[in-house]
Amino acid sequence: MTSAIILSIGDELVLGQTVDTNSAWLSRELATIGVRIAAHATVPDDQPSIERAIRSATVNCDVLIISGGLGPTEDDLTRQALAGVLGMPLETDDASLKTLTAFFVNLKREMAGSNRIQAMRPRGTTMIENTCGTAPGIAAMFGDCRIFVVPGVPKEMKAMFSRDILPALREAGGGAAIVSTTLHTFGLGESNIAEMLGDVMQRGRNPSVGTTVAGGVVSLRVNSYFESPEKAVAEMERTTATCREKLGHLIYGQDEETLPSIVAGLLKASGKKVATAESCTGGLLAKYLTDVAGSSEYFTHGWVTYSNEAKTQQLGVPEDMLKGHGAVSSAVVRAMAKGAMRLAQADVAMSISGVAGPDGGTPEKPVGMVCIGIAFKDPHNASSVGTHGRTFRFSGDREFVRDRSAKMALAILRFHLTGIVMPF
Ligand code: ATP
Ligand code: MG
Repeated sequence: MTSAIILSIGDELVLGQTVDTNSAWLSRELATIGVRIAAHATVPDDQPSIERAIRSATVNCDVLIISGGLGPTEDDLTRQALAGVLGMPLETDDASLKTLTAFFVNLKREMAGSNRIQAMRPRGTTMIENTCGTAPGIAAMFGDCRIFVVPGVPKEMKAMFSRDILPALREAGGGAAIVSTTLHTFGLGESNIAEMLGDVMQRGRNPSVGTTVAGGVVSLRVNSYFESPEKAVAEMERTTATCREKLGHLIYGQDEETLPSIVAGLLKASGKKVATAESCTGGLLAKYLTDVAGSSEYFTHGWVTYSNEAKTQQLGVPEDMLKGHGAVSSAVVRAMAKGAMRLAQADVAMSISGVAGPDGGTPEKPVGMVCIGIAFKDPHNASSVGTHGRTFRFSGDREFVRDRSAKMALAILRFHLTGIVMPF
């Protein structure tokens, strides 16, 4: 398997003033032709640092892609560093000088003397034409390692890489490909998911399966590397099917799908309308439900009833129930959902009431305790309303508790709409 290192050059990158998007883009492109990324490295505009980075990279990979530092200014030192590593002097490339001169004639601008350096390359290397800027790229060999230097400007880098470098590497790779997909779960932690997946997650397996977590969503990333794109896709699908067998309905979506988009699809398909009644989440659940374009098809009303009075006046939650059980209780969220569903004339309603913190917790109702309610029309008796309430304990800061609460309500709604018993 061909391996590559991506070396980014620039003071602004190491200082964190510019985010290195080139490496991410190049990695994804290289993956499509089955090139494994061994490392990303970033060094400042300093010739000795660049030379050291090139030397150490070339012994550790088959292909080194260097971006940045090809410009005409004094801080652009990549070509000098490459010449230093190769032990070759810089020479003017006649064809490049012609193109560069023509570029400035075309612009009716005088070419600065410093621009001439852009037509120079270390002896024994070749230029790669730049169709959208002034600095050509450079292709070189050092030992067994192929080196490609591309401009730092993302647009120029992408054009040059796609047009000249990718096809050359694809040919060398013999048609191999890495394809990827991501499956999303919500509700269980990463270690539970890993346990359920078992040996599918074994290191060294191909396709490989790894987990990532973001916002409570545990995702499985499947990377499949094979000698042809067809084989890579077929094997990826086999592994995806295995993951689905092991995790069942815990998987709610794939790739770009989100909990809101999945729930939106289910609501649209069933023609059902949903309403929300929220306390501690302050409308976040309604926000998630309306993040999806076309949400007016299924979302009618959302209440934010923060105070006890609002819960009573707006949703008809009985005062003595609030006194007896407290606002954060299964009874109250069931009453909130029931009230919202009736008033909105919806088919289903979700409600949330909890202690988001950091203050307001008690021994009986600690910070992070959240009750989520659902009310729905009884499918066998249209005039009867079913309700459920569940209590969760989320441990995190205020934002965390509110976010997980809203997502859990979406997850509960998803299970309700699919008629599947919640697996957690
Ligand atoms: P130029 O001929 O334009 O000077 P160059 O090859 O010298 O090209 P740089 O000077 O290193 O490129 O960078 C030019 C621009 O591209 C800068 O605005 C820089 O912030 C941006 N850039 C450079 N490297 C990256 C990177 N890895 N990711 C995102 N942007 C980058
Ligand atoms: Mg620069």
